Amino acid sequence: MTVVTRFAPSPTGFLHIGGARTALYNWLYAKHTGGKFLIRIEDTDRERSTPEAVDAIFDGLKWLGLNADEEPVMQFARRDRHAEVAHSLVAAGKAYFCYCSPEELQEMRETARAEGRPMKYDGRWRDRDASEAPEGIKPVVRLKCPQEGESIISDQVQGDVRVANDQLDDYIILRGDGTPTYMLSVVVDDHDMNITHVIRGDDHLTNAFRQKALYDAMGWDVPVFAHIPLIHGPDGAKLSKRHGALGVDAYRDEMGFLPEAINNYLLRLGWGHGDDEIISQEQAIEWFDVKDVGKGASRFDFAKLTNLNGVYIRQADDRRLASDIAPLIARNIGLAELNADQVESLVKGMSGLKERAKTLIELADSAAFYVTDGVLTFNEKAQPLIDEAPQGLFPALVSALDAVTIWEETTIEEAVRQVSETLDVKLGKVAQPLRAVLTGSNSSPGIFEVMQVLGKTETLVRIQRFCAK
Ligand code: GLU
Repeated sequence: MTVVTRFAPSPTGFLHIGGARTALYNWLYAKHTGGKFLIRIEDTDRERSTPEAVDAIFDGLKWLGLNADEEPVMQFARRDRHAEVAHSLVAAGKAYFCYCSPEELQEMRETARAEGRPMKYDGRWRDRDASEAPEGIKPVVRLKCPQEGESIISDQVQGDVRVANDQLDDYIILRGDGTPTYMLSVVVDDHDMNITHVIRGDDHLTNAFRQKALYDAMGWDVPVFAHIPLIHGPDGAKLSKRHGALGVDAYRDEMGFLPEAINNYLLRLGWGHGDDEIISQEQAIEWFDVKDVGKGASRFDFAKLTNLNGVYIRQADDRRLASDIAPLIARNIGLAELNADQVESLVKGMSGLKERAKTLIELADSAAFYVTDGVLTFNEKAQPLIDEAPQGLFPALVSALDAVTIWEETTIEEAVRQVSETLDVKLGKVAQPLRAVLTGSNSSPGIFEVMQVLGKTETLVRIQRFCAK
């Protein structure tokens, strides 16, 4: 049997971080088993589904590299097929038209409330003939659900979960206006898409029992279910915005995370392989099995994600990082885009820069001085360093550096050391004001590396600006 998994988001908002983890687990399990991963957009709630949300979901999945193996399925477009299944169930005597009036339903609701139990449709139209139907009521179609005994779902994560069948009422599969309900659409689509494994949030566990009744009524194989615990905040409460319940686009654009760090973090959030923290995609594919997902709710921890992101930044290719941060820097310094030379200096400076940054935002901030020509902004710690520079430092640096013919870290260092000896001050007394003048900051990659990347001309221009003062 080929494993087929799916991710089935409702496009009522962005791709949130919990959804991304569900998609990742489905994708990984399909890859692990040599199966297929599919996407279905559950856009049947016409009021709340938006094209922008559909785009945001595809965009987020693409960024994370969770691509589907077939064209995505749009659920609403399949509504006639869903209705057809409902009618076939009626024809087979497994579902029936229910002509309850709104008043009758209201009464059932009130009785249930008075008795302190959830509303349960009492099955009054199960065995009644349509000839008894009142005027003016558009009937819904209800599924005949089992009434006695119990239903068991052997969930891959939750284990065997049981429900007494008298808890399940004959629920609606087709509305009075002929449109399918969510429960019907999901089952028909999962069947038609040959889904073998339904991996989703455990908020859908109770739906699984109702869905099983529908599979059984159609005589279809019930897929394997795996209901994964939801992600909670660090305090154990439901994940809120403050905790990270945001769209993946915010993780990318506002927080500067790399997709591989997000994937690695989400993978570990609910699943593990010994003590391994850094898990490559190849390893994840080899090791991941949905059976090993933990039963307990996991806690989202920004600090861990940020540290992990730092690890991935250090591993990342310099040119890729430069092109990732180029638009951020351009925006910060008010340019439409960086030119090729500017990007090239970022690439050259990247090995020193990336050691220090945990997010692309930090990386962009720390790299901006390489591409700023003319106007450097000085942070509040840089100016005092310049003010405290030894007398005659900048002119001495200009003449020593101007004399360097082969512009390399070692030759630059030699020249700077000479200046500190001549002025009889410690190297730090030279290096710190120099750093401030060249980078506008009190911290940067190694100062000789910075000068090498800036090049001789730019280095001298930046120092000379201070000699003039
Ligand atoms: N569309 C549902 C959701 O976004 C998922 C349904 C399912 O996975 O079966 O929560």
